[in-house]
Amino acid sequence: MSISQAIEKLEAHYSHQYEFIQAVKEVALTIQPLYDAHPEYEEFKVFERLVEPDRIFNFRINWENDKGEVQVNRGWRVQFCNALGPYKGGLRFHPTVNQSVLKFLGFEQIFKNALTGLPIGGGKGGSDFDPKGKSDSEVRRFCYAFMRELYHYINKDMDVPAGDIGVGGREVSYMFAMYKNLTRESTGVITGKGVGFGGSLMRTEATGYGAVYFLENMLKAQDEAIEGKTVLVSGAGNVSLHAAEKCIALGAKVITVSDSQGTLHDKNGFDKPKLDWLKTQKAANKPLADYVTKFGSGKWLAGQKPWQFKADIAIPSATQNEVNEEEAKQLVDNGVKYIVEGANMPLTADAVDYVRDYRVHYAPGKAANAGGVAVSALEMSQNSVRQYKTFEQVDERLKVIMKDIHDSAAGASEQYGQTDNGYIDYMAGANMVGFKRVADALVAFGILN
Ligand code: NDP
Repeated sequence: MSISQAIEKLEAHYSHQYEFIQAVKEVALTIQPLYDAHPEYEEFKVFERLVEPDRIFNFRINWENDKGEVQVNRGWRVQFCNALGPYKGGLRFHPTVNQSVLKFLGFEQIFKNALTGLPIGGGKGGSDFDPKGKSDSEVRRFCYAFMRELYHYINKDMDVPAGDIGVGGREVSYMFAMYKNLTRESTGVITGKGVGFGGSLMRTEATGYGAVYFLENMLKAQDEAIEGKTVLVSGAGNVSLHAAEKCIALGAKVITVSDSQGTLHDKNGFDKPKLDWLKTQKAANKPLADYVTKFGSGKWLAGQKPWQFKADIAIPSATQNEVNEEEAKQLVDNGVKYIVEGANMPLTADAVDYVRDYRVHYAPGKAANAGGVAVSALEMSQNSVRQYKTFEQVDERLKVIMKDIHDSAAGASEQYGQTDNGYIDYMAGANMVGFKRVADALVAFGILN
């Protein structure tokens, strides 16, 4: 069955899972040259196999709110593919979570994890639980209840979750505590743990910093540098604020951050103290809008996105499909030459086509935001040998990993004729490198996986 036939079959089955279909098509559209060069992939039905998860666990979570009322949520763990190592991928707590979203994230994760060069397979999980407006005790009770179900399906050598939207250090700690309580094992079964009880230094910063290291490599390939560039960042969460922090440290001017309520714009750029204040503000669930009165500068744009401002670089780091074709056009019109996806699939398919047509240097999330999972894999190995690396050691390793991902994606773009006059097709390159690593393993295993 050809790739296009496999897609047709998938669409017939899962027409309602549009995020998942979008993610699969994005890979399918770019790997044909690789597929043609490897007839064994067709013979072993590699593509058709990879678009179907190994298995999905679906469970109910009962928990009690502060009023003693019983609450019911849905939870999932998608074990997508363990060809290269234990299933690895975060947990998302957000009301929009459903099987389509988790399958898209899990599918992306397979190739992202392969790109890191580390021995990790792809998975994803989460719940439609909304942490917003919940007390700390409610979040704790929910996390305990969630892990009471999830622990049946995970293990340090088989499936190792981490955080994602709505799941940070606090939630990971609660879930880890329940896992320890149930199993009496203190292992690396979940990453993003607190430093001091098994967490790796730099895990918190890794995704945002890694995206900026990837960007530096892109700029270098075009004989440019980050210093002096103007940057639009979306989101005000873990990835966004650390991407902004690294850009500022390297001499760029970050003029926006945003959240689900709107966009904060400061034409003078945020400096480190202001960014630290933003981190504290978001950690306390307080509005970004307070910045304007606090610092007497900037503008709060309720309900708006950051793409309306002139800039050189955009780092969308909030959520999937946050940039549509119209907004992609806005970015191009505003002079943006580089787009680095901090979030997973933040551009719609039309937006991706638009920016690539206009030769914007575009780094897909599976390459650019792989720094987080890479450091999670380093956390797993530190847990196994029970020895811990310094911040600087992890940071150095992260820089090397991001450079390797950049260079291998650029190399594949060149090898398969996708580089045109210095314009590197990072999307095609990253998809082909990630896909090849997984496909070669599947072929080596025969028909078991
Ligand atoms: P956080 O929960 O820390 O932050 C998410 C941010 O995005 C918040 O500011 C949130 O706003 C905003 N946001 C979420 N949904 C929407 C929406 N529908 N519209 C507008 N804004 C929204 O998540 P992370 O920073 O961890 O994750 C962000 C992205 O990066 C996700 O796509 C995630 O999958 C991806 N990613 C994360 C990694 C990690 O290590 N954390 C690793 C690799 C990828 P508000 O505060 O108002 O809720």
